[in-house]
Amino acid sequence: MKSFPMFLTMAGRRVVIVGGDETAAQKSRLMLKTEAAIELFAPALEPELAALVSQGRASHYAGPITPAIFKDAALVFIGTGCPAVDACIHALAKEAGVVVNVVDQPHLCDATTPSLVDRDPVVVAIGTEGTAPVLARKIKTEVETMLDPRLGSFAALAGRLRDAVAMRVPKEMRRDFWRRAFSGTAWQTHRGGDDETAAKMLAAEIEAGGITVPEKGRIALVGAGPGARDLLTLRAVARLQEADIIYYDRLVDPDVLELARRDAERVFVGKEVGAHSWPQEKINEVIVASALEGKNVVRLKSGDPSLFGRSTEEMSVAKGAGIEVEIVPGVTSASAAAASLGRALTERGQTDHVVLSTGTCRPGATDPVWGRMLNEGATLALYMAVNRADDIAETLLASGGTPDCTVEIVSNATHANEAIWRTSLGDLARCVAEDGVTSPAIILVRRPKS
Ligand code: SAH
Repeated sequence: MKSFPMFLTMAGRRVVIVGGDETAAQKSRLMLKTEAAIELFAPALEPELAALVSQGRASHYAGPITPAIFKDAALVFIGTGCPAVDACIHALAKEAGVVVNVVDQPHLCDATTPSLVDRDPVVVAIGTEGTAPVLARKIKTEVETMLDPRLGSFAALAGRLRDAVAMRVPKEMRRDFWRRAFSGTAWQTHRGGDDETAAKMLAAEIEAGGITVPEKGRIALVGAGPGARDLLTLRAVARLQEADIIYYDRLVDPDVLELARRDAERVFVGKEVGAHSWPQEKINEVIVASALEGKNVVRLKSGDPSLFGRSTEEMSVAKGAGIEVEIVPGVTSASAAAASLGRALTERGQTDHVVLSTGTCRPGATDPVWGRMLNEGATLALYMAVNRADDIAETLLASGGTPDCTVEIVSNATHANEAIWRTSLGDLARCVAEDGVTSPAIILVRRPKS
């Protein structure tokens, strides 16, 4: 490590910024996150900096730069826009023995500013010692998605309660108290926006000496999206991070599971179209049993849990057992398929409604009425339909669909083995039978307006 990360105490200290243009404004924005007194040294200030001065957030000095102005400064930033001038000012600052950062001149920097993920007072600083700023930004984006926006205010609450916990909760129970605080109901409540109730919950637990009635866990039916892990929602990632146990389907990409906590249990329930390795009843049973043990359960489903995912059954069993359950929506595979095809599901003047249907129903149930779904102006997205493509094509052709209606099939959308077939309604059955269309796939049939 050529640079060592440290958190500097900034409250009430001076930060000197030499320069009055956008570069100085950038450094000021960064320093405004702290409680430092910002002093701007420049003949003139650009409007944003001038506004900071008039609001009393910074002070401005137009006079000469001398070593004395740097004395005792916590940090000095130099960025006048002229590298030669910056180098001279750097020499003056070094006479005062302070920590200096000269913009765009790494050899003159005692310190560099990291990429920050700011959940004040929780702060993550990322540095690459100048080797790969783009990588630092990429890591920042990943960490941003991992940390809930409400984490900072909850950490601040925890900070305010530390003394009370030290007084009332016996030492051997404190660790457990904090572990529960950061993953249990108080945190969930705070994250949901109810700060006051969350604070009361923690206060009550502290009052009781850190002893709680064991809580029931919660169940989240989480949409894992079509495959690519960056198509998960931020909320889905948050739930994965909180989960003690994750029950996941066959179609969930292993990459997505990496977003969960390392110590979370992962259980493959191996649900396949039409052939369930685990019967649904068993899945309902185990997710509820885990929640009753006090675990935070994630039931991870491909795409959007509310589409062809048997979420209703899981929700009603959970609710019947008095367990809180929520759906976290996901990107459904029809949307992913359209994106892979580089076209929209609705096209102005051509298709004005989208029907999502399935080729596979409960054993013994009647087929969906596909014939009524392909009206003029429709895009019909068929899930679990590869095995029934011949029946579906026949039905659609017998009920107004013409052989030249466009058909596009996307299998394994957004996975590494994604494949696309472009055909027509007249040729659909042959295409599926002979061209090696593999599941999971979405079949999109379009019947434009005439
Ligand atoms: N809830 C899921 C659908 C589950 S049913 C969703 O919203 O996407 C399973 C069917 O979804 C598969 O048979 C297939 O038709 C479709 N599917 C799931 N993942 C897919 C993918 N990556 N590419 C194409 N189709 C997919």
